[in-house]
This record gives sequence, structure tokens and C-alpha cells, in this order.
Amino acid sequence: MTTSSTRGERTAIVAGGGIGGLAAAIGLRRAGWSVTVLERRPDLGEIGAGWSFALNAVRAADALGVGDDLRAVSVPTQAGATLRTPDGRYLMRFRPDLDMALLANHRSDLHRTLLAHVPAECVRAAAEVTGIEQYEGGAVVAYRTPDGPEQLTAEVVVGADGIHSAVRRSVFPDASGPVFQRILCWRGVSASGSVWPVEGFQTWGRGARFGAHPLPGQRVFWFLTVRQDQPGARYDDDPAEIRHRIGDWHDPITALVDATPPESILRHDIFDLDPLDTYTDNRVVLLGDAAHAMTPFLAQGACQAFEDATVLTAQLSGDTDIPTALAQYNRLRRPRSQRVQRLARRDPKISLSTNPLAYGVMTRLTQMAGGAVAARKSARLWDWTPPALDQHHANPVEGE
Ligand SMILES: Cc1cc2nc3c(=O)[nH]c(=O)nc-3n(C[C@H](O)[C@H](O)[C@H](O)COP(=O)(O)OP(=O)(O)OC[C@H]3O[C@@H](n4cnc5c(N)ncnc54)[C@H](O)[C@@H]3O)c2cc1C
Repeated sequence: MTTSSTRGERTAIVAGGGIGGLAAAIGLRRAGWSVTVLERRPDLGEIGAGWSFALNAVRAADALGVGDDLRAVSVPTQAGATLRTPDGRYLMRFRPDLDMALLANHRSDLHRTLLAHVPAECVRAAAEVTGIEQYEGGAVVAYRTPDGPEQLTAEVVVGADGIHSAVRRSVFPDASGPVFQRILCWRGVSASGSVWPVEGFQTWGRGARFGAHPLPGQRVFWFLTVRQDQPGARYDDDPAEIRHRIGDWHDPITALVDATPPESILRHDIFDLDPLDTYTDNRVVLLGDAAHAMTPFLAQGACQAFEDATVLTAQLSGDTDIPTALAQYNRLRRPRSQRVQRLARRDPKISLSTNPLAYGVMTRLTQMAGGAVAARKSARLWDWTPPALDQHHANPVEGE
């Protein structure tokens, strides 16, 4: 068995090298911790298309010292405040002087830029965490590699291993698992320059929602979410199924689907988690989707993971003993992230309703209320200030 530090620093193992795990690793390293990231995937990449980040995540990224990197791989999108109907009518339109643009980027671009802040020797790829055993003062993490099982010890284990978290299952075996939300989502990225410019919009059909965000490089990330009773639906021809669902919706929706290489289109069932009773167990702490996976309807899952990483870093930066620091993280993060998680579960019950009456009422109310109400709701959601983090680079990556 090995330990994760040889220099007498405090040691942490981060299970999962997704956006949440990397943000946590960056924060903890800056706070002087020795960090080892164990990532199941052999290639360390991020699969997926695009996504958007709101002000709360940008503030968190700034606190972690990676805000400029986030901005550098992103472009502003108006999709958070532009809502149309399938015939092209505007229910709500982005107001440049009043509305806050989101920042959209390609997942793999953001992942790559965060990974550059974590030295290669701190990351083990093809390392799948299989179990955790805690002891007084630390934990042993068992993981599987192509060469066989291995173990590593650390004072803190951060479970950032996503919605199906092995860490969560290991420390909270009785917690309920992912819950299917009767939603199917297709995602794609159009070929560079093929449909451009696009300012970002969402289109609200009955039981279906399409959204598009511009990405750097004149690409456009788009998604279509629809109601689906059972998980596991498969289609022989996804682009044909998407075209069938969107029918004659306004431009440039069909053009975006047509401009996307068919083999790159992703299809996912949407699951979330029931709120957990706690995010911590002695020396183990959950973060990101492992703690509070939510539907994508508020575009906040990764934003909340960034918030988590910032608060965890703040709590583990000082001299506070570790169990107290983790308990404080739990106290600070659970109410906020679970409020967002609950809202994200509730939103599609209305916005993805297939009921014609509900759809008619909601679209009329949205049009009447206009952008002001939406802006107030978003402002409340994004109104989050990170804790002050000591910006000394205790563990700089070469070149920083
Ligand atoms: C359709 C869709 C659209 C979305 N859009 C947005 C958006 O616009 N904005 C936003 O903020 N959020 C969005 N989200 C949510 C966002 O994708 C997630 O909240 C975010 O990816 C969570 O990051 P994470 O690091 O916690 O988990 P993950 O991204 O799931 O990363 C977990 C990592 O752990 C690894 N792993 C898993 N198991 C193990 C193991 N046993 N051992 C080691 N490694 C393991 C995985 O390979 C992965 O790299 C969207 C989600 C979906 C589904």
C-alpha cells in the first residue's frame, strides 16, 4: 500500500477527474495539499458536447485562480434569456443592457484547460475506485488498474466520481441511487462555420425543448430534451428521430442538426439524485454530481461542482481539524446545492409538460411576465459569493 504524499504535506485522494474533481484538485493543491486524482477513464478526456456557466461558477473559478482560463475557452451566449416558440415567436428576448450572458464552452476545451493546472504526476488514469475503508485519521482507497488492484491512503478522500459514484455507494450504502426523470436528451456540436452566427436561444415546444449556444471556433452546441417514459430508448437513426421530433421548428434548428456529424450526436437518459442526508462521512466528502446530481434544466450541475470545490478548499485551507472542516463544508454546501437540485427537478415538470393546457398557460404567462421575472429568478440562482481563498500558490504547476 502507498500513501499519496512523500513530502509531509496533508494528503487527499480525489476520486474522479471530471470537472468537479479537477476543480477540487486545483483548489486543494493551491491550499498546500498533496493530491492524487484517480480517474477511471484511460484517456483523461471529457466526453460530451457543450455547456454553459453562470456567474456563480465564474466567481468560483476566479476564486480558484482559473477564471481567466474559463473565459479564454468560452463565448457569451444569450440562451439563458431568449425563449422562443417552435414557430419562432419570442416569449422572452435577451436584453443586452439588463440581462447577464452565460459563458458557453466545449466540455473537452474546459477539461483540457483545467487539467493543465494539475501536474501529470498527480493524476492516475485508468484507475477505477472500487471501495473505501476508513481508519482513525484517514482512509484507504482501493482501485482497479489494468495491471491489477491497488490501494492508496490519504487523510481525506473526495468523491467526485459522478452520479453513479462508487465513493457514495461505499460510504452510504443505504442511500438511494439515481432516479430517472422521464427525460431523454440529444446533444450535438455543429461543424465549425457551418451555421454561424448564432446568438444562443431556447425553443419551448410541448413536451420538448431545444437549445443552442455558440461555441468558440464558430461551432454551435445544441440540445433537444423530450419526455420519455422509460430509460433505454434506442433509435436506429438519431438525426432522423430528432428531425421528426422538431418537425418544422424555426430556423436554424434543422440546419444545426444537419450540420452535425451524425456519429457525434449523443443521446442520454436524464437521471438525478434524491437529496442526501449528508455529504460527509468522517474523512470522506462528496462533491459535484456524486453529491447532488441534478437535471440539466437550470444548467447548474457543473456550476455547483465549482462552488463545492471552492468551499471545500476554503474549509481545508486553515488549521481547522479535518472532521470539523468537512462538517462545515457539509453545513455550507448542502442547503444551497440541494435547493438548486430540487428546483432542477421541479422545472421540467412544468417546462417539459406534454399537457396542451399547461403548455398554453405557461407560454402565455412567460410572455406576459417577460424577461424581468426570468432575470430576477436567475439573479437569485446565481447570487453566490465564494469564500475568500488564500491566493498563494503553495503548489504551483510549472509555468504558472
Ligand atoms: C445534458 C446535460 C447538459 C448539462 N448542461 C450543463 C450546463 O449547461 N451547465 C452546468 O453547469 N451543468 C450542466 N450539466 C451538468 C454537468 O454535466 C454535471 O453536473 C457535471 O459534469 C458534474 O461534474 P462531476 O465532475 O461532478 O461529475 P462527472 O462529470 O460525472 O465526472 C465524474 C468523473 O469521475 C470518473 N469516475 C466515475 N466513476 C469512477 C470511479 N469509480 N473511479 C474513478 N473515476 C471514476 C468519470 O469517468 C468522470 O471523469 C449538464 C448535464 C447534462 C446531462
